[in-house]
Amino acid sequence: MTTAVIVGSGPNGLAAAIHLARNGIEVQVLEAADTIGGGLRSSELTAPGLIHDHCSAIHPMGVASPFFASIDIEGFGLEWLWPDIDCAHPLDSGSAALLHRSIDETASGLGDDGRRWLGLLRGMVDGYEGLSSDLMQPIVHVPRHPLKLASFGPRALAPATVAAKLFRTEKGRALFGGLAAHVYSRLDRPASAAVGLMIAASGHRHGWAVAKGGSQSIADALVAVLSSHGGTVETGVRVRSAADIPDADIVVLDVSPDAVLDIYGERVPRRIARAYRKFRRGPAAYKVDFAIDGAVPWLDPECGRAGTVHLGGSFAEIAAAEKDVTLGRMPERPFVLVGQQYAADPSRSAGGLNPLYSYAHVPQGFSGDATEAVIAQFERFAPGFRERIVVSVSIGPAQLAAANPNNVGGDIIGGANAGLQVVLRPRIAVDPYSVGIPGVFMCSSSTPPGAGVHGMPGYNAAESALRQLRKRK
Ligand SMILES: Cc1cc2nc3c(=O)[nH]c(=O)nc-3n(C[C@H](O)[C@H](O)[C@H](O)COP(=O)(O)OP(=O)(O)OC[C@H]3O[C@@H](n4cnc5c(N)ncnc54)[C@H](O)[C@@H]3O)c2cc1C
Repeated sequence: MTTAVIVGSGPNGLAAAIHLARNGIEVQVLEAADTIGGGLRSSELTAPGLIHDHCSAIHPMGVASPFFASIDIEGFGLEWLWPDIDCAHPLDSGSAALLHRSIDETASGLGDDGRRWLGLLRGMVDGYEGLSSDLMQPIVHVPRHPLKLASFGPRALAPATVAAKLFRTEKGRALFGGLAAHVYSRLDRPASAAVGLMIAASGHRHGWAVAKGGSQSIADALVAVLSSHGGTVETGVRVRSAADIPDADIVVLDVSPDAVLDIYGERVPRRIARAYRKFRRGPAAYKVDFAIDGAVPWLDPECGRAGTVHLGGSFAEIAAAEKDVTLGRMPERPFVLVGQQYAADPSRSAGGLNPLYSYAHVPQGFSGDATEAVIAQFERFAPGFRERIVVSVSIGPAQLAAANPNNVGGDIIGGANAGLQVVLRPRIAVDPYSVGIPGVFMCSSSTPPGAGVHGMPGYNAAESALRQLRKRK
C-alpha cells in the first residue's frame, strides 16, 4: 500500500492527510504539540468554563471552503454559528460602520457610500464560488472562470489606499480599511486590497462564522474525517530532521520554509534553498484574551451584536499603523481585531463572564508589552471597558512562536503578504508545493493560497503529491 507521513496537524496538514487518505493512501500525521490542530486550538485560557480560541477565531474562508464542503465537515460534528452582525467598525464619533451578511443591509447603513459598496462588491459576491475556486489555487493554473478572474484583477491588484478613494464617507472608508488590514501589510502597496475584498465577498455570501464550542471543533471534525478513511495522528512528536520521519512514499510538511531547510538540509536543491532563505516574514500578532464581567460597554451598542470588531479608527489611521508595523515600528494606536465569538456561541461563556478575544498588529519579533495599547483602543470606543476586566492573559510574538514553530517571530500569516510573495509563495514555481526532493511537499500557509482556515494549501499540496505518484507509476 502507498504510504504518506504528514508533519504537523494544522488545518492544512489535516486537509492534506484527508485528501491522500481518501485516495486510498495509508496516512500517519505527526504533531509536535500535545494537542492537535495548530492554529485551531481552543481552551479555558482565563477562567473555568470560558472557551477561548488560541489563534483562529472567525472563519469567513472556512465556511466558504470548497475543500471543507467536499468532505462534509459538518457531517463530522462541526457546527457553524453566525453572529447577528459579521463585523463592526466603531469610529471616534461614537457610531459604528457595520458589515452585515446581507450586502444590501450593509449598503443601506453606509448612506451615500451604499451604492459604491454595491458597485465594488456585488459582482464578486454573485460570482463568488467561481472566483474563489480559481483564487484558491496556485497562480499558475488554467482558470476555470477567466472572465470573473479578469474582472476581479484590477480591483484586487490596486493598493487599498487607491480602492478606498472610491468611498466618500468616513464610515465607508474605515469599514473598507479594517477589512483591507487583514492583508497584514502596507495598504499603499499593489494587491493590498485583495484580501479585504475576498473576506468581504465571502462574508456577504456565507457570513463570518464561528465554530460552536471553539475553533478546536474544526480540528476535531477534521480528525474524525481522517479517521473515517483510516488515517492516524500521533501527538508529542517534534520532527527535527528527516531521520525522525518514518519511511513513506510521500511526505507532506505543514511547516515553514526555514523548517523545511532544518529538516532536509543539503537535500533541498540549492536554488530552492536560496529562495526559502529569502522568504520574508510578516509582522506579528500580540494577543490579549480577557474574561469580562458582562458585555463590553461599546458607545455604539450595535458593536455588541458583532462577532468581530475592528479597532483602528479612520482609514488613514489604519494605513499609518499598518505601515509602521511593516517597517518595524510599534504604533501608539495599533490596529486591534476583537473577537466576540460568544455573541454567536453563548456556550463559550459561564457564570456571567464572557471570553473576549483580541490581538494587535505589532512589528515582527516585537518584544515589548502591548497590553495597555490594546486596552486603550477598547477604552476609546467602549469607555469603562477596563472596569469589566476580571482576568487578562497576554501572549506576545515569542510565546506564539514557542507554541507553534510556524508562527516565526509572531508572524501568524505564514510569511509577508508583500510584493510577489502574496501569490507566489514560498517561491516562484509551477509547483510551489514541491520542495525539490521527490515525494516531499510543503502545505503550510506559506504556500498558496496562504493564511486562513480553509485547508486549500493542504488540498493543493496533496493533489500535487498524487500527480507525482501517478507519473512515477
Ligand atoms: C492569533 C491568530 C489569530 C488568527 N485568526 C484567524 C482567524 O480568525 N481566521 C482564520 O481563518 N485564520 C486565522 N489565523 C490564521 C490561521 O490560524 C492559520 O492560517 C492556519 O492555522 C494555518 O494552518 P497551517 O495548517 O498552515 O498551520 P498551523 O495551523 O500553524 O499548524 C502547523 C502545525 O504543525 C506543527 N508543527 C510545526 N512544525 C512541526 C515539526 N517540526 N514537527 C511536528 N509538528 C510540527 C505545529 O505544532 C502546528 O500544530 C490566526 C492565527 C493566529 C496565530
